[in-house]
Formats: sequence, structure tokens, C-alpha cells
Amino acid sequence: MLTQIQLNAESMRHNYRLFCQLVGKSRVAPVLKSNAYGHGLKEVYSVLASELPEWICVNYVAEGRLLRQLGYRGRILVVGPAVARELTEAFGLDLDVVIGNETLLTAWLQAPNRPRLHIKFDTGMSRQGFAPGEASHVAARIAANKDRFVGICTHFANVEDVTDHGYATKQLELFNQAAAALRQVGFSPMLHAASSASALIMGQSHFDLARVGISLYGPWPSPLTRVSYLQLKNQVLDLRPVLTWTTEVTTVKPVSAGQFIGYGCTFRAIRDMRIAVLPVGYFEGYPRLAGEAASYVLIQGARCPIVGRICMNMMMVDISHLPHCQVGDRVTLIGADGQDVVSAQDVAGWAKTIHYELLTRLHGDIPRQLI
Ligand SMILES: *Cc1c(COP(=O)(O)O)cnc(C)c1O
Repeated sequence: MLTQIQLNAESMRHNYRLFCQLVGKSRVAPVLKSNAYGHGLKEVYSVLASELPEWICVNYVAEGRLLRQLGYRGRILVVGPAVARELTEAFGLDLDVVIGNETLLTAWLQAPNRPRLHIKFDTGMSRQGFAPGEASHVAARIAANKDRFVGICTHFANVEDVTDHGYATKQLELFNQAAAALRQVGFSPMLHAASSASALIMGQSHFDLARVGISLYGPWPSPLTRVSYLQLKNQVLDLRPVLTWTTEVTTVKPVSAGQFIGYGCTFRAIRDMRIAVLPVGYFEGYPRLAGEAASYVLIQGARCPIVGRICMNMMMVDISHLPHCQVGDRVTLIGADGQDVVSAQDVAGWAKTIHYELLTRLHGDIPRQLI
């Protein structure tokens, strides 16, 4: 591909250390699911390895296998839905699995070798987990296999996009009740609940481990998380975006007033222009919908509006204001160029989605380069 993704290793380590400071006695489990949020699992792991994280979270057993192949010896927590037929492999790879329903718990109890167990409680997300009221029932079921039981966890539904954290506070209460019920029958589980947003703005959610995904890579979970942080701490936090996505100009051509640009003839030049064709489209992960907004890329530090529809592997941009732009010029799709920056949030916003989706959809074949 003519496109590349560059990762700033120093920024990544900086963000990781910020979170380590932020959670104090608790620990940070970097979340490397979805190809490390599109940044590249191998590359991100190679950066974090020197920080010796005690825990890493992934979604799939297969991602845990990859981390083991890369040489990671620490704890790997599979937060996604492991299924019964994966338990043996999870044990073999020394993974920690999260179990949140009766079916899988039964399979775990019947498995010849049981991977380490975390019980998940559904405190308000209605996705994975036992009801908090089932805590003592679950305790009774696993009592004979207590040695393989590690901890309990939950996941917040509504921290990112609000400044009122009442719902999360209620979730936290339910989680604490489940923990208390387990302690009452003699268990002493480790507790984990926080992801990026709650790690940032809900100190009471830190417990023993914070599962930090998006903000490890620099972006705030949402603008409102940033506002909440500012309100709470009265200071800014220096999170640094790790990823830069660039490509190069492959064609430069004049377009006369009246000519159409792209599929569907949605764009018609009202004056003579010059355009550049870029070898990036929705296959590579640039959302087609972004082409319908006031979207742009950066060339020579200047904004170049996207014109016409984004194609599968190409897009066209207006370079009329850059008379010296030529084939081979560097183009920034996400990242800084000169005084200007295009953030993942900008591109996601143009496409009416969130940066989580945009980043995790960056094509896995785009070369990732550490700088
Ligand atoms: C993805 C995920 C996280 C990380 O969330 P961020 O908002 O990216 O920090 C934490 N916990 C669970 C269970 C997840 O699935």
C-alpha cells in the first residue's frame, strides 16, 4: 500500500505512564483488542513490552495466543466472550477468562483444565454478566474451584458521553454489593471496572485494575470526558495522540469549471481547479460518509477539501490553492502537518461515527511504522 501508519512510541509510553500515575495503587491493563485499536497489535506490544505491564486485555483467545507468540509472559485477560470449546486452549496459553453466564460457567466447571476465572456482573449494560443478586449463587457454584477464581468485574454503560455520572454511580453500587456478597462467604476477589473514561474521572472505580483502551492511544473517550476531567481536577491532562496516517499524491490534474468529479457526479467544479488523487478509500478505512461533510486532508500544512465521493481505493482533493503540489507529495489523513492537525475525532465526526470505530477499522494491511 502507498499508505502508512506511523506510531509515536514515546507518546504511547507517555500515555501509559500518565495512567499509571493516575490510578496510583491500582494497575493499568492496556487494552490491545481490535488490532490495538487499529494501531497494530505487534507494534503496540513492542512499544509497551519495555514498560512491563503486569496485565494486558484482549477480546479474543486468538489475540491472547498472538501475544504469547510475541513473548508476553504477563497476565492476559480475555474480556470478550470466550466460548466453551476455547477453555482448553485458554488454559494452555495461561489466559484469564471472563465468564458471565451459566452456560459457560458450567462448561468451565466441567473442563478438565480450568483457565483462571473472572466473574462478570451486569450492573446496567445488559450485555455480559450475571445479575449482581446472583453473587452468592455463583460463589456456591465455584466454591470447590476457588483456587482458579481470581476476581470480579463489570463494565460501565454511560460514562463517556455525559457529565452527569449518576448512572455509573448506581452501577458502582451494584458492583460493590456483589463484591460484598462474595466477601461474606469467604472470597477475596480482585475487582476491576474502569475503562479509559472511568479511569480518568471516577477515582472510586479504580479498584485493583483499570482496563485502559482508547486513551492509551491518545484520544479522549469523548469531548465530555475531557470537560468532566477539567471540572473534577481543575487541570488538563497531556494525552498525546500516537497515530499518524499518511499517504502520497499519485495524480495531479486540472479540472475545468463545469466538470464533474467522482461517482454519482455529486461534485461539479464552479471554477477551474486543480485536484490531487490520493490512493486511499473506504477499503483502507477512510469512511465513505466523510466525503459528504466539510472534510479535508493536509498537504504542505494546508487544508485540502475532499471533493466528490470517496471511492473504494481512492479519493480526490482540491489543491487549487497549492500551485506547487505535485505527485509524490506527502498527505496527512490523520495527524499533524505544519501548524494544523486532523484528529481521528475530526474524521470520525465527518463520518457521523466515533473515533473508536474509525481507528479499529484502519486496514490491518497498512504498514505500521514505529517512530
Ligand atoms: C474495550 C473495553 C475496555 C476499554 O475501553 P476504552 O473506553 O477504550 O478504554 C475496557 N473494558 C472492557 C470490558 C472492554 O471491552
